[in-house]
Amino acid sequence: MTDCVFCKIAAGEIPSAKVYEDSAVLAFRDLDPQAPTHVLIIPKEHIASAAELTPENSGVVAHIFEVAARLAKELGLEKGFRVVNNCGPDGMQSVQHLHFHLLGGKQMGWPPFPPQP
Ligand code: AMP
Repeated sequence: MTDCVFCKIAAGEIPSAKVYEDSAVLAFRDLDPQAPTHVLIIPKEHIASAAELTPENSGVVAHIFEVAARLAKELGLEKGFRVVNNCGPDGMQSVQHLHFHLLGGKQMGWPPFPPQP
């Protein structure tokens, strides 16, 4: 996708603080970190969001989780980590290229929600 910022990062046209790369995925530091460690893991193939996953393209998601586990070890997240995917407007997805946030280095909170009646 020509106007996709993460496609441009994957192609090396926009610089990023890369922490891992292979033929299928790229991992780089988030510009606006929400935890002491905040890495984004993306497929190099353009998939707009988790809502666009199909039996044909979903294999990369398993690979991304393997990369997350490997990076968690390499980045010292022995006490645990969180993997987040935001999808669509209600999910507050701001970049329309599938990505997973790998967050760690602190104990996470959980978004508050009123108790159900
Ligand atoms: P989301 O809101 O789930 O779509 O997350 C998009 C994330 O991409 C945000 O956390 C941004 O801070 C991050 N981001 C946007 N542009 C860049 C960039 N050029 N390099 C690194 N992170 C970026």
